[in-house]
Order: sequence, then C-alpha cells, then structure tokens
Amino acid sequence: MHLTHLVCTLCGKEHGATIPQNVSTCCSKPLFAHYDLAAAARTLTKHALHAREKSLWRYREVLPVKNESDIVTLGEGWTPLLPAPRLGAKHGLKKLFIKDEAQNPTGSFKARGMTTAVSMAKQFGLKKLAVPSAGNAAGALAAYAARAGMEAHIFMPRDTPRANIIECEQMGAHVTLIDGLITDCGAEVAKRKTAEGWFDVSTLKEPYRAEGKKTLGYELAEQLDWKLPDAILYPTGGGTGLIGMWKAFDEMEKLGWIGSERPRMFTVQATGCQPIVRAFQSGEKFAAEHLGATTRASGLRVPKAIGDFLMLDALRTSRGGAIAVSDEQMIAATREVGAAEGIFPAPEGAACYAALKTLLAAGTIRPDESVVLFNTSTGLKYLECYGG
Ligand SMILES: *Cc1c(COP(=O)(O)O)cnc(C)c1O
Ligand SMILES: [Zn+2]
Repeated sequence: MHLTHLVCTLCGKEHGATIPQNVSTCCSKPLFAHYDLAAAARTLTKHALHAREKSLWRYREVLPVKNESDIVTLGEGWTPLLPAPRLGAKHGLKKLFIKDEAQNPTGSFKARGMTTAVSMAKQFGLKKLAVPSAGNAAGALAAYAARAGMEAHIFMPRDTPRANIIECEQMGAHVTLIDGLITDCGAEVAKRKTAEGWFDVSTLKEPYRAEGKKTLGYELAEQLDWKLPDAILYPTGGGTGLIGMWKAFDEMEKLGWIGSERPRMFTVQATGCQPIVRAFQSGEKFAAEHLGATTRASGLRVPKAIGDFLMLDALRTSRGGAIAVSDEQMIAATREVGAAEGIFPAPEGAACYAALKTLLAAGTIRPDESVVLFNTSTGLKYLECYGG
C-alpha cells in the first residue's frame, strides 16, 4: 500500500514503480520494492495484527498492491510454525520448528509470490502472464491467473513431477514441456514474450514475487513473539524466499519491531545442483552455472539464479552457511520427518532436515539453538520419488 519506488539491487539506482517492470534497466539485476515505512507504521502495528485476517495480506501496508480490489487471493500465507519435539529430541534440540508451507493454496509456498505478482499484474492491467518453472511456481501461477481471469503460459521441463503438470492443465493454463532445465524454459519465454504479448513473471525477474515471499520473515517473527530464531535452513533454488526474508528483517527493524540481530541463514541445495554452495565455499560474489544439474527435488533444480549475489550476501552477513545433501539423504529424511511429526514433506523440505543433521554433527549448529526448517511443499506432489 505504501510502495514508493523500486531500487536496483546491484547499484542502488532508483526506478519508478508505476509501470510493469522486469529486471533493472541499469544492470539487468533484480529490482527491490521500497516503501514509506513511516506511513506504514501508522496503521501496521503489532497490536493491530491481532485482529487481522489469517493470510499474508495481514501485512498489506508493506505489500505493493495499492487498492484492495486488485488483490488476487486464495487464502495464502499465515501457515503454522509447528514445533517438532520428537524430531528435535533425536538430536537433543529443544527448539526445533517446521514452517509448514505445504498448507498454502496449490500446496507450496510459491503461492506467496504469485498472489502478489498476479495482484500487481491486475493493477497494471496485464492479461497474459508467462513463467518458466521447475514445477510449483507453474501450479501457483496457473491458480492465481485463473482466479484473476488472466492467461497463464507455462514452460516446464518435461520431467517435472506429474502433479505439477496436471494441476496446471486442470486450471486452464497453456502448458509447454521442454526437453531441458528451467534455464532452457526461461530462454524460451524470453524469446517469445514480446511477439506474444506476455509479461514474464520469472522469479526475481519481476519485483513482486519476492514481496509475497518476504512475508515468511514477518510471519516467523510474529509467530515467535518477535524473537527471530538462531538459525534458518532454507531449501534454495532461485532464492526468492531467502532474499525476501532477509529484506523483511531489515523492514521490521526499521518498523521498530526487532533489533539488529539476525538469524544465521543456511542455504540447503542438492549435491546434483549446488551452484550457491559452491560459490559460498569458494568465496565468489556471483555463482557460476551448475552444469548438468540433476536432482529429484525439482524446486532445487535451478542451475543459475539471478539473485545469487543477494543470497551469498545474506549467508555471509548472517554468518550462516551453505550445504548440499544427496537425493538419497532427502528421501530417507522424508520418512523420518513423516513418522516423527506427521508431516509428509516435499523432498526440498526433507532436505533441510538432512542438512540439519550434518550441521549438528559438525558443531555448526548447537542443540541449544532455536532452529526453523522450511517445508516448502507437500510430498503428495512428488509421489514419483516414493515409488508412486
Ligand atoms: C521453488 C521451490 C523451492 C526453492 O525456492 P526459492 O525461493 O526459489 O529458492 C524450494 N522448495 C520447493 C518445494 C519449491 O517449489
Ligand atoms: Zn543498477
């Protein structure tokens, strides 16, 4: 509601926010939304939140949509932060939580980004949206575009989990399967979008998906009574959620809601696709493409991310880290999480638990710390991984 302008995340140049935009015209990097936080703070108070709707739109003052009539919603966000006592007890952890994002519309946290991106598309009068996706972003775009009466043009790798392909088709999207990776899908959208009149909502190549995803950070703080956890483990593909949370922490500090302390942020990737882990370890500012990327955790199969430098900065500034786990570890971890806590996680979510075990064994995370794992989707969308 109090959006003022956009800022290039590489050079800091200001850009207007009154027309649809993709990457910055100065550096071809992601644009961040900026708000008049003083104005937002007049109505957005910790107290006011008590009476607000149980969706991410409870934070509407720090979300970009100007008029409520443009909000395209399916009831996304405000997912439970579930204590995981039995899983924690296995390792002597007393404060282990799972943010269960499977409870979002379309069964993944991609709903958070798409509610804001599609709402802004509505505000701008756009009618045709296109996205390259590893799976869940496609399902979410199909849903929110249908909800808004817009066309969704979706490009996914041919070997995307079947649930993602079927959900897009059943929600009326135009689906094209590509023999390749999400990067090849992105190239196809880029090639055709001008002639077709599509607006590209690729992750971090339009400014507003990150705004929806940043509410993960607001919710964590609110659900933990305004005390952020010591460590956050995030299954990382394009990195929107990680980057979004990091942005949310800064906004909340400016709103006077939290202090300057930050959780240690950990990126979890798959051994078959770990561009951010490699760049973190080798001290690079940007991450080289991971060639020949392969993992069954489709959400992690992102060999090259435009927000790489933003993620690496958050990992380093927070004194966190980056770690890769194998597909075998993720699949085994699924049953452990499921049997201990009654949550059937997506492989990406299970990867966070597998990574936690490694980080505990190495002493990088101590059992007395409070830890949040993100379960970003449901195992039900990945039955292929479990012999289904
Ligand atoms: C997209 C996705 C991720 C990665 O999210 P980013 O914010 O793009 O890093 C993780 N898990 C699942 C299930 C996803 O769909
Ligand atoms: Zn720039």
